[in-house]
Amino acid sequence: MNAMPGRGALDDPQRPHAIVIGAGIGGLAAAIRLGARGWRVSVVERCEQAGGRAAVFRQDGFTFDAGPTIITAPFLLEELWTLAGRRFADDVTLVPIDPFYRIRFDTGSYIDCSADPAFMRAEIQRLAPGDLAGYERFIALTERIYKIGFEQLGHVPFGRWTDMARILPDLVRLSGHRSVYALAARHVRDERIRAALSFHPLLVGGNPFKVSAIYAMILHLERAHGVHFAMGGTGRIVEGMARLIAGQGGSIRLNTNIDRITIADGAATGVALDDGTRISADIVVSNACTAHTYRHLLRDAPRRRWTDRKLKATRYSMGLFVWYFGTDIKFPEVPHHAIIMGPRYRGLLDDIFEHKTLATDMSIYLHRPTATDPSLAPPGCDGFYALAPVPHLGGDIDWATQAESYRQALERRLAETMLPGLAGHVVTSRIMTPADFESRYASTLGAGFGMEPVLTQSAWFRPHNASEELRNLFLVGAGTHPGAGVPGVLSTARVLDGLVPTIMSSAARREVGQHV
Ligand SMILES: Cc1cc2nc3c(=O)[nH]c(=O)nc-3n(C[C@H](O)[C@H](O)[C@H](O)COP(=O)(O)OP(=O)(O)OC[C@H]3O[C@@H](n4cnc5c(N)ncnc54)[C@H](O)[C@@H]3O)c2cc1C
Repeated sequence: MNAMPGRGALDDPQRPHAIVIGAGIGGLAAAIRLGARGWRVSVVERCEQAGGRAAVFRQDGFTFDAGPTIITAPFLLEELWTLAGRRFADDVTLVPIDPFYRIRFDTGSYIDCSADPAFMRAEIQRLAPGDLAGYERFIALTERIYKIGFEQLGHVPFGRWTDMARILPDLVRLSGHRSVYALAARHVRDERIRAALSFHPLLVGGNPFKVSAIYAMILHLERAHGVHFAMGGTGRIVEGMARLIAGQGGSIRLNTNIDRITIADGAATGVALDDGTRISADIVVSNACTAHTYRHLLRDAPRRRWTDRKLKATRYSMGLFVWYFGTDIKFPEVPHHAIIMGPRYRGLLDDIFEHKTLATDMSIYLHRPTATDPSLAPPGCDGFYALAPVPHLGGDIDWATQAESYRQALERRLAETMLPGLAGHVVTSRIMTPADFESRYASTLGAGFGMEPVLTQSAWFRPHNASEELRNLFLVGAGTHPGAGVPGVLSTARVLDGLVPTIMSSAARREVGQHV
């Protein structure tokens, strides 16, 4: 069993104890916020490293970020470092990526996306001049949506249904009842531009034809705060967060699976590990998949809202097939982030989200971190990952037998689009399928992003940050409010911050004769 011991976790054993289940970015952010409030924090993680989906795979001289690569809203990270009394820039070097990404359409045409209005006008003019005015109206609308959706609603708990009722007029005014695609389609005619303006919900596990147009706020988030890359990879952010926790006196215990949350009198009292060891705590914060938390970790607890039946009827985000590979040649013309659209947009998404069949065509997000940081691969080499959205495990796909043929199809598609001459140059390779997401992260149905962020599973309808089932149990991470993505899960920890009390030192408690 590995541990990253904190400086003074046991300095003050009187301090109230918080256990965080899972060292994903949401769990780490929660630990830092609790540490800053004076709690004695123990993070317990089943994997061999911290980071959750933001793990790092190292092989054959290549460094692969397993998950998030597009870093937006850096102010949310900076805030954590400030809370811990440090400066983010001292630990992590973020570099802006501009243009943000290239979207290559099936016809071979492409659009580069940037925050620069003049650049974007020229791009739209080049591809679909008739859509310029509609594009500009759409972009202006995304700013209004962001101001409500992100700035006002993203950091408040939706613990009461009246919180939801209060936002309904705004939701309707900002077209929140429409899908992101429908909103884009009301503004522009060219299907390529419609796709370029509407694919963003896929970054948080939603179908652009189903999720609320509120998610168009992601376009403004990118434009207002940039798209960044952490030099050395996203893993550097995770390492920095782990150091903050250690510096606060907290600990992260790895390779340790939590079997259940212990309960007494309707309140969480701690956790039990796989080997039967019990660890008591004043509060438990679960960063594990919310459905896993309720269905497995609270399997014996009576549940009013998140019953097995409700969890079965819940819609989960799509699965992800990720191929990490390194080449012994470089592809200098390939940008850091690229999206390679397939021949079908809506049809492919229907196959993935509704029919749950593995289509022969695919859309791919291609990550080439060595475009920005060549140190992530040996000299003269390029490191990549190619990610294709696929159905979650609710379909009938046997990844044990299908994974290699799907990887080969992915390789062929890359070779015929952005990586000509790829064959024969792959020198290292590794894949993750939805089955791996299930076994590695205990993700229900191997979903890439937890519960699907459709309107009926958002805000008040999503599992609450202060559990509806038990006192002293809190939830952070992709499956709770506001949802998935690095900014989303950092925000779940920010919501938690408003729900837990600040702990005074024992000396201060003695002085005022209080107990927490
Ligand atoms: C391939 C990929 C690419 C992505 N790209 C981006 C991107 O570019 N930008 C972006 O913003 N977002 C991106 N995302 C989304 C983002 O990475 C996730 O939404 C976010 O990292 C999830 O964080 P989380 O806090 O919910 O925790 P998770 O990462 O889900 O971590 C939860 C942790 O809990 C642990 N755990 C579960 N059960 C137990 C248990 N019983 N006992 C102990 N530990 C347990 C798991 O092992 C895991 O480590 C991407 C995701 C993926 C998968």
